Amino acid sequence: MRNFDARGASKQMEKKMAGPKAHEWIADMAPYVPGKAKVDGIANPVKLSSNECVYGASPKALDAFARSAGQVLRYPEADSAALRTAIAEVYGLDADRIVCGAGSDDILTLLIHSYAGPGDEVIYSQYGFMVYPVQTKAVGATGIAVPNKNWAADVDGILEAVTADTKLVFIDNPNNPTGAYLPWSEIERLHAGLPENVLLVLDAAYAECVTAEDYKAGEEMVERASNVIMTRTFSKMYALAGLRVGWAYAAPAIIDILNRVRMPFNVCLPGQPAGPACRD
Ligand SMILES: *Cc1c(COP(=O)(O)O)cnc(C)c1O
Repeated sequence: MRNFDARGASKQMEKKMAGPKAHEWIADMAPYVPGKAKVDGIANPVKLSSNECVYGASPKALDAFARSAGQVLRYPEADSAALRTAIAEVYGLDADRIVCGAGSDDILTLLIHSYAGPGDEVIYSQYGFMVYPVQTKAVGATGIAVPNKNWAADVDGILEAVTADTKLVFIDNPNNPTGAYLPWSEIERLHAGLPENVLLVLDAAYAECVTAEDYKAGEEMVERASNVIMTRTFSKMYALAGLRVGWAYAAPAIIDILNRVRMPFNVCLPGQPAGPACRD
């Protein structure tokens, strides 16, 4: 029998308890709790809390999805070129300024991870989309939640909150969860008031749902500004939430950054043809 070495044993214990340590700001985070997805007595309920589309996806998209089944042994196209070309055609955009993601969540997350870190500030609305505060925490940056005005983003409040440490400003327009939107003149006023080094993220997940004439999603601002990115998704209006297909439009320098940090095969193989099929 070996002599029991109390000091050695407690050292061992310390070592065990120490274990690998995540950043302290991540240890402070609460895991994401998704909205309720099951209801007793109702088969396949639609999750309105996540704005799942009650009408379902286009049969053509579903057909494209089904046809991709025989191809799933392959990796998807790494740069989503066919998908980007189709998006560019439909919206009259430059395919080289588009990047695709596993949902727009993927792109929103990568933006925060690329442009903010400890000591930096990220601004969003108090009742804004949840991904912004969660990912801001994940990188150890400080989130600044500006109170909403008439349920939409408050441009004056946001401009007042900007400091030398501000790196990103997020506007979900229309807003989730309030549903309110900012007219284009307000987005212009916001952009004009922001320093050039602050990245303005126009999250237009619901652009296809807006019919108001004073609304714009943001393409034209992207084309003339170096500090604006517009994010879009096939999850909501096109009802492909389960396939996780999103995209963004921005100046080439921002697209270049996103292409460096994104996973090489970030849009799944069945998702790539399903998006363009919605258009046919
Ligand atoms: C649903 C939603 C998204 C993200 O959707 P994806 O499925 O990741 O494309 C982004 N922004 C807002 C405001 C949303 O409501």
